[in-house]
Amino acid sequence: MENQSVEKLLTNIEELKTNIDEQIATKLDIETCKRIVTRLNSFSAECEECEKRFIELEGHIMQLLKKKNSLTEDDIKHYTQKVNNITSHLTKKHKLVTSGFYFSVCMPIGTSLGVVFGLLIFENIGLGLPLGIGLGVAIGAALDAKAKKDGLTL
Ligand SMILES: [Zn+2]
Repeated sequence: MENQSVEKLLTNIEELKTNIDEQIATKLDIETCKRIVTRLNSFSAECEECEKRFIELEGHIMQLLKKKNSLTEDDIKHYTQKVNNITSHLTKKHKLVTSGFYFSVCMPIGTSLGVVFGLLIFENIGLGLPLGIGLGVAIGAALDAKAKKDGLTL
């Protein structure tokens, strides 16, 4: 992907943001969209799918830009679906994680382990539960921090 088309797309996204309702901009999650564009670009040289998705997204943003303030719920839904598809490709194929991913995975595991071990070892859920939650939070946060440090956070 040429740098020029990346910059143009980022400019278009920024332009879209300034031209639409703040509420809609929040729904469209403009910041995530920009990160996705950068990621697609960095993988596009070696991944055909990323290149394809980049072009697709480029076209889609152009459509949204044309409609600007007459965006409908359907447009937003359609866009969110597209972004979700891209996110799932980036996480599955390129091993990226969404921000807070490990936290959201470890926290419930810690909670259920806390219940189980609380019952088995201490015979007291009240004792096991905070331990499990604390552990889940600590491990999740550590893994999230590591992913971020390794540049794997989307
Ligand atoms: Zn890819």
